[in-house]
Amino acid sequence: MSKNRKLFFIDCSEAAECCDKSQYDEANFLEKAKLMLHLAFCKTCKKFSDRNSRLTHLMKEARLETCPEEKKKQWREEIKKEYAEERTSR
Ligand SMILES: [Zn+2]
Repeated sequence: MSKNRKLFFIDCSEAAECCDKSQYDEANFLEKAKLMLHLAFCKTCKKFSDRNSRLTHLMKEARLETCPEEKKKQWREEIKKEYAEERTSR
């Protein structure tokens, strides 16, 4: 393998690493490019990457569905208000 080839052609473990990084936007441009190149010819990693991005997508959706901190705070305030009203009306 020439130096150049080695720079752009990464093995599967390195691809997996880049894949993880790019999920969290931690990969730099070169890493992303290398990953794309690897995915273009490695079916195993392509499958892994597809599953990974689907998982990330699901996780993002799940997080949207679970209660955001702001909403929780709002609920807490409302509950507090109701308690207060209950107390004053008695
Ligand atoms: Zn691979």
